[in-house]
Amino acid sequence: MKKYHYEDFTSGNGIGRVMLKEKCIACGSDRRETAFDLGDTRIYRCPSCGLGVADPIPAREDLKKRYEAEYYETGYSEGIERRPSEAAARLLDVLEKHTGKGRLLDIGCGAGAYLAAARDRGWEATGVDVSPFAVNFVREKLGIPVRSGFLDEAGFEESSFDAAIMVHSLEHQQDPAATLGLTKSLLKPGGVLFVSVPNFAGVSALRRGSEWEGLQPGFHFYFFTPGSLRGIAARAGFEVLEVSAPVEIISGASVDAVLGSRAGALARRVARGLMGSAIDRARKRASGPAGGDTITMMARRPEGGI
Ligand SMILES: [Zn+2]
Repeated sequence: MKKYHYEDFTSGNGIGRVMLKEKCIACGSDRRETAFDLGDTRIYRCPSCGLGVADPIPAREDLKKRYEAEYYETGYSEGIERRPSEAAARLLDVLEKHTGKGRLLDIGCGAGAYLAAARDRGWEATGVDVSPFAVNFVREKLGIPVRSGFLDEAGFEESSFDAAIMVHSLEHQQDPAATLGLTKSLLKPGGVLFVSVPNFAGVSALRRGSEWEGLQPGFHFYFFTPGSLRGIAARAGFEVLEVSAPVEIISGASVDAVLGSRAGALARRVARGLMGSAIDRARKRASGPAGGDTITMMARRPEGGI
């Protein structure tokens, strides 16, 4: 059984070392196992809570350069005009039940689809993104004031937001525990946080293994299970209201479509196996169904908390 050590965690030029912890940031375990060796990147997994961590995690300046060019010029730019209006409307419905329409912060706002939807419904919406391309797009095309850089560079005022959202953003962070801690301080007491991330314990991740789209070496550094996401949020001081990974959310396809596909035999075998093992374990740690491709979490900054 290996212990976490910086030396163990440091490969190649060692640029990830300062960002990695000796213990699991979600559950405190000092054990780890290699989940995937992808060549340039190794993915470790905590055997206790299932959290995955990439090694190495690029240094901040290196990461910024990647988002300045590559990321938005390749796959992401195809989706930049696509407005996930239905998803945004559903999310805003939920947030408004908790806080009404107030000040919203979108961390990792990308092309600003959620910000636009929120503004159109009467929220005072702002965001932050590390990509100058995305930030310019949101400012110029949507007319929404957003800040450029990492969250801790953005200079937002403490206790000033009613709600914060991180839609497929936390897995990109170099230190998600620190990001959540900072996010909590930016929320008003009683303010709510919504997080969605790819599910490392989901049907697709378990079925596709090292081919899973959610791994995205060089851009995704943490790979969450329902239990580990809950653990990180709780350690950051949030009151976790709900964690869920509905099985109907499987890469945009229904469970039936996935399990009935041409690769169906293997998928069904894997699904049966994981329904009886990994998913059950994950489900026990979550408050809802746990096998889908996306984990969502609602959490709250406690009233009177620090
Ligand atoms: Zn853990």
